[in-house]
Amino acid sequence: MVFLKYLEHLNKEDYFMILRKAKGIQIDCYKQMSKESPLHEHLNPQFVYIPLIQQTTALKRTVEVGDDILIGQVVALREGFGAMPIHASVSGKVSAIKKVWHCSGKMVDAIEIKNDLLQRMDDSIQPEADTTHFTREELIEKMKQAGLSGLGGAGFPTYVKYQTKLPIDVVIINAVECEPYLTCDYMLINAYPEKLLKGLHYFMRAANANRGVVTFKSYNTHVKEVLQPLLVNYPGIELKEIKDIYPAGWEKYVVQQVTGKTYEGLPAEAGVIVDNSATAMVYADVVEKNIPLISRVITITGEGVKNPRNYYVPFGTPVKELIQLSGGYTEGLDPAKAWYIAGGPMTGRAILIDDLIVSDTLGAVIVKPMPEDKTHPECLGCGKCADVCPVFLTPTEIKRAYETKDVELIKKLNAQKCMACGLCSYVCPSHIEITDFVGKAKDLLRKGA
Ligand code: SF4
Ligand code: SF4
Repeated sequence: MVFLKYLEHLNKEDYFMILRKAKGIQIDCYKQMSKESPLHEHLNPQFVYIPLIQQTTALKRTVEVGDDILIGQVVALREGFGAMPIHASVSGKVSAIKKVWHCSGKMVDAIEIKNDLLQRMDDSIQPEADTTHFTREELIEKMKQAGLSGLGGAGFPTYVKYQTKLPIDVVIINAVECEPYLTCDYMLINAYPEKLLKGLHYFMRAANANRGVVTFKSYNTHVKEVLQPLLVNYPGIELKEIKDIYPAGWEKYVVQQVTGKTYEGLPAEAGVIVDNSATAMVYADVVEKNIPLISRVITITGEGVKNPRNYYVPFGTPVKELIQLSGGYTEGLDPAKAWYIAGGPMTGRAILIDDLIVSDTLGAVIVKPMPEDKTHPECLGCGKCADVCPVFLTPTEIKRAYETKDVELIKKLNAQKCMACGLCSYVCPSHIEITDFVGKAKDLLRKGA
């Protein structure tokens, strides 16, 4: 009844969106293959490559070839919006400035550091004897100085969210990880459950929020088993199971499930800040040990890898090395004829070589044989793509508008509301990459061409 009353106050679009979401789409998840092996550490790659880009912002390099480098030392700066330092993930020497493949699908400049394998730390990395005295401002400043960004895929500078002037009631940890194949968040929570709660506790203090909620997929019962017994020491924190549908990890859906509220632009409008679980765990180390963001867990998986598994690695580790540590490619797979999907299969990007490097926005690489026979598929006009779209778009009409470069029509069709969930491509019986067309239409709209 309460839910029905709530629906009465929504506009038509939100009303349908929530009904549609409540029904949801169940998709194959392929997660078991990388859950079977424990979390592996690979802390000492011979070289790391720190990309001189964060999100789409080019970074200013602060070190030169030949410089001696310590773990945690500032090596680059993001300037302007989201300004923050970027730190070295290993100790050693800057051996070159090189082009590397980034998960954005572009080649970017990177600082190559030859690892001396000594794990020498910058003086700034020191444990805090007492964290209880930190003010909200100090906790936010720590996020900034640590270069903390969202590890869920977007890479948004975390401190910017916490600088909001809007009152925040609840901090939500998004551990839903609804993309197929990905298990990096799941494995990390299972390995270090208390760290997640500590990170959330500090986030709540940084937001002046009394409530914290960890959201996770209903089938991940183990997440509940490891977190529930610890909650007694973390007042204000609760767990919330989210239905096994795609895209249940969509921020708007998670916020609606926890608070019953919707918003137009940012979750803060609904009194909420949402962070990814891995980001919260890094933040615990930022506050307690002054360790900046220099490492992450990445899932290396897919039908093309012998032993799919998760690795805890310093940023800049070559993915190629991790594929080798996973036993290499499956029999008969020619690496030159494989797809390397950076991120999840629904929202990630297929890259044609394994020369990627690990960065804040790369949570997984899925290796698959390159699909054949995908040339010029015909649209059957079945309407399935429109039927599944969580934000009520008609992807085929947007595709047509894009092909005729009709910017006005693209705008009218609300292409800008697409959240790139990939569902329209997933359900398409003709295997049309319709998500890509909607993405291109959005780009066209942005450029106003
Ligand atoms: S990718 Fe965009 S157009 Fe396609 S289903 Fe998702 S939101 Fe709709
Ligand atoms: S799902 Fe595919 S075949 Fe069906 S209408 Fe959409 S684009 Fe055409």
